[in-house]
Amino acid sequence: MVQLTDSGELLDAVSVFDVRNPRTGSVVGRYPVLQAEQVRASVHRARSAAEWWQGLGFDGRRRRLDAFRGLIARRIDELVSVVHQEMGKPKSDAYLEVALVLDHLAWAGKQAPKVLGRQRTRTGILNANLRASVNYRPLGVVGVIGPWNYPVFTPMGSIAYALAAGNTVVFKPSEYTPGVGEWLVQAFRQVVPEAPVLELVTGDGSTGAALCRAGVDKVAFTGSTATAKRVMEVCAETLTPVVAECGGKDALLVDEDADLEAAADAAAWGGLANAGQSCTGIERVYVHARVYDEFSSLLAQRVDNLRAGADVEAPIGPVTMASQVALIRRHVTDALAQGGRVLAGDVDFAGQIVQPVLLVDVPEEAEAVREETFGPTMTMRRVRDMDEAISLANASSYALAGSVFSRRNGTVLADRLRAGMVAVNSVFTFGLVPAVPFGGTGDSGFGRIHGADGLREFCYAHAVVRQRFRPPLALMTFQRTPRAERWLARIVVLVHGRA
Ligand code: NDP
Repeated sequence: MVQLTDSGELLDAVSVFDVRNPRTGSVVGRYPVLQAEQVRASVHRARSAAEWWQGLGFDGRRRRLDAFRGLIARRIDELVSVVHQEMGKPKSDAYLEVALVLDHLAWAGKQAPKVLGRQRTRTGILNANLRASVNYRPLGVVGVIGPWNYPVFTPMGSIAYALAAGNTVVFKPSEYTPGVGEWLVQAFRQVVPEAPVLELVTGDGSTGAALCRAGVDKVAFTGSTATAKRVMEVCAETLTPVVAECGGKDALLVDEDADLEAAADAAAWGGLANAGQSCTGIERVYVHARVYDEFSSLLAQRVDNLRAGADVEAPIGPVTMASQVALIRRHVTDALAQGGRVLAGDVDFAGQIVQPVLLVDVPEEAEAVREETFGPTMTMRRVRDMDEAISLANASSYALAGSVFSRRNGTVLADRLRAGMVAVNSVFTFGLVPAVPFGGTGDSGFGRIHGADGLREFCYAHAVVRQRFRPPLALMTFQRTPRAERWLARIVVLVHGRA
């Protein structure tokens, strides 16, 4: 059992919280709830390291991020065990999660100079006397507030990109997975012992709120839409910018020409893996009427063959937060009360073990279709054509990601989905490609992690325009002549008059 401050000392006067293994209920860790003053001290330490970290330049930072990546890869078993123990996902899923992070670390370190380094831009014919360039500078200290459902992948989507861009980071992991946060920060310190570039603050929501108030230069928040609003409220006090990666209610669309076996596999995985606790999890399935019967029986078979359990062989682990079980139960019960049916799986809640269930005939107004359920449940509906599928899929306040199965029209349908990311003939594949930006719109938040957008998210643009010689037509001076003004009027007509 641990009871640490960020620097490894025992704390005297703060409250602590226990972390429980959701499979067994046993306590697997104890951490301090850091208070505002301690959080500010962490931000102060991270700020003291910022100049050194920026001074390493892109190459120096890349070398260290590569060393971090190598260390995680070599010690992946340890990290996987902490994830498994704290949030309950099967170890095989945790391996996949960590493997993805390594790709992102490699990409962010390698691409940062290309994406953020100074680049010349065109100045236009009327400004031939000017040279212009833009680069992207780090903001300073980024506060990263992470959720528990992908406790490595999700926060590292901000941490890796913020660090590669030259920021230092203070990381507040979820109170369900502080051990994962601690593991990551201690591993980073082994490869970057010189300065406190990545700091850890543990605690609950109050610690997160304290981080928002602690003078960071940006908050990268991942979590629920409701908490994002609270984070923004606090950040508004100091005009601290926020990137908000929030919940979703993602849909999977099955067209009449889809590979139905592949679509059924993907729907089962996308909806039920990680006990349905994925921001981009498939919670709704819309199927073309011509293939509905065949597809629904394929998906039903798969759901019937799955099981949730506390044993290590179970392909679906427990629901991580005990409090979430009541919400999942409410969505399912309400769906059934409104005329929904169980097509496959079971309505079976035993503590935090929730059996997977596929619901049909659920009205679109029901909570199970409108609100994020975040459990191993899915609703499925027959649609007359893909126009109806698109319109139902888009009728959500969330717009995070989605998935489309169609042999001929996949990308056309993808274009019509209101979402930040769409997987065609697959699920979740946008998370595999580091170059692709990750994030949503509407109630799913704003801003991006991953890819070039994800690097720029943690920077500000810095433009330099250099005058190489006086312009023949001097306009930005009180010495401007009437002749110059006449010329300007003519040129404006010449350049823009035909538009
Ligand atoms: P929460 O919103 O409950 O918490 C997210 C983080 O915010 C936690 O670290 C939490 O701390 C912290 N927090 C809570 N209250 C405050 C506050 N007032 N001020 C600052 N920080 C606070 O989300 P969950 O952890 O339950 O994660 C699940 C949610 O995350 C789902 O909605 C899911 O869709 C979304 N998500 C979105 C992703 C995306 O990329 N779009 C990716 C993964 C998840 P503590 O836990 O200690 O209370």
